Amino acid sequence: MTAQTPEPLLTSPTAAWMARGSCRDHDPAMFFPSDGVGVDRARRICATCPVQAPCLEYALAHRIEHGVWGGASERERRRILKRRRLAETVLADR
Ligand code: SF4
Repeated sequence: MTAQTPEPLLTSPTAAWMARGSCRDHDPAMFFPSDGVGVDRARRICATCPVQAPCLEYALAHRIEHGVWGGASERERRRILKRRRLAETVLADR
C-alpha cells in the first residue's frame, strides 16, 4: 500500500472554482453575516458569481454550517439537505 500525497490546494479542483468566486473581491466577513440584511447583501454578490453552483454543492457536501455559500444561508442549506434526504427516501421506497 502506498501513501497518497494530498493534492496541493492551489491546483485542486476546489481551488479552481474558488479562485473564480466573486467573493474574492470582497471582505470575507461579508459572507459570515450576523443578520438577514447581511445575508441579502452576500446573496446579491453570489447571484452573479460564475461559480455559484459548485460553491453551493461544496458547502452542502462538506456540511458547512456557517456563512453564505452559493447564495444560500445556513438555514437554506439545511432545508436543501432536508429536501434531498426526503427525495432520496421517496425514491428508495418505490
Ligand atoms: S457563490 Fe458566493 S460564496 Fe460562493 S464563490 Fe461565489 S461569491 Fe463566493
